[in-house]
Amino acid sequence: MVHPENSEEYKGLIVNKGIEQPSSVNPYLKRTKKRHLSVGDYVEGIIKGDVTTLSRAVTLVESVRTEHQVIAQEVIEKCLPYAGNSVRIGISGVPGAGKSTSIDVFGLHVLQQGGKLAVLAIDPSSERSKGSILGDKTRMEKLSVHPDSFIRPSPSAGSLGGVARKTRETIVLCEAAGFDKIFVETVGVGQSETAVHSMVDFFLLIQLAGTGDELQGIKRGIMEMADGIVINKADGNNIDKAKLAASQFRNALHLFPAPESGWTPQVLTYSGFYNTGVKEIWDMVYQYIDFVKANGYFDFRRNEQSKYWMYETINEHLRDSFYHNPMIEKMLGEREQQVLDRNLTSFVAAKKLLDAYFEALKK
Ligand code: GDP
Repeated sequence: MVHPENSEEYKGLIVNKGIEQPSSVNPYLKRTKKRHLSVGDYVEGIIKGDVTTLSRAVTLVESVRTEHQVIAQEVIEKCLPYAGNSVRIGISGVPGAGKSTSIDVFGLHVLQQGGKLAVLAIDPSSERSKGSILGDKTRMEKLSVHPDSFIRPSPSAGSLGGVARKTRETIVLCEAAGFDKIFVETVGVGQSETAVHSMVDFFLLIQLAGTGDELQGIKRGIMEMADGIVINKADGNNIDKAKLAASQFRNALHLFPAPESGWTPQVLTYSGFYNTGVKEIWDMVYQYIDFVKANGYFDFRRNEQSKYWMYETINEHLRDSFYHNPMIEKMLGEREQQVLDRNLTSFVAAKKLLDAYFEALKK
């Protein structure tokens, strides 16, 4: 069988421009006529596991309108007591690494054991280019029509921190709706991994066997975050290369300090396309979860993450409040010019702006 990538029709990875973010890509969700929902309606619907309500609540979380945010925050707060009972897995890899193909088979694999799976995404490309790498609804063909899955593309508005916070809040809603497995997908381009790492229990890095110098392209920090590294496309005449890459990764991991979790990150090879080695990956993930639940690291990490998000949220609001202050908006350009003209140092300019901001707050 010729792999589609090797067929003439294959045109490589296309970045889809301007994709509308669908409210949900699962056709099992029945469309009901929209009526206004109160906070209580949202919470009740979510806890019942009604995906239409869940979907609408996520839309509120993603909305930039203040009135939506107010309701969203209340809904999240009321859902919190029902949340937390899931295994959260971050999945990262560069475009073309095989994330969508893999998530499709990973998803079906974990759903074989029952439960419900939500697939969320953090896509830093969608803000800049208005096109999204992870937004294409046909990417996970089998999973997207599975009755126990909920696939939600990345929120598109705002900074990476803002996008990530919305995904983090969406996790709470999904868990309250009974989703006990959460995948958070991201494109391996740097900062978004840190964001995903800050909300998952296990961080899985998908890699490819390259042309020799495997480790060059990945940043050290990303490798250090990984609880497991999996080399995809270990099929056909790529198997040996994949195995070689795996041993190179294993060697490289030995050079890093031992992770806080006490767990030694594992490196496995698999083929998402031919569905080989997938079971081993999930055995590893569950083994890790048992391990960190037993040694207390699971709760420790979640607590650290809660703290992180508290400070992140404070930072985000302070930044917003500062930059959206009308007086600051007016002054900013002028001060910037003074810095460029060497009439003010960066530090003095910043101090003047901050002083003006804090003065304005007092009034
Ligand atoms: P993503 O951009 O990371 O989501 O990657 P995709 O899942 O879209 O995969 C990119 C390309 O790699 C597609 O042409 C897939 O068919 C191909 N691919 C994915 N998994 C495998 C695999 O296990 N083996 C081989 N040979 N190709 C694969």
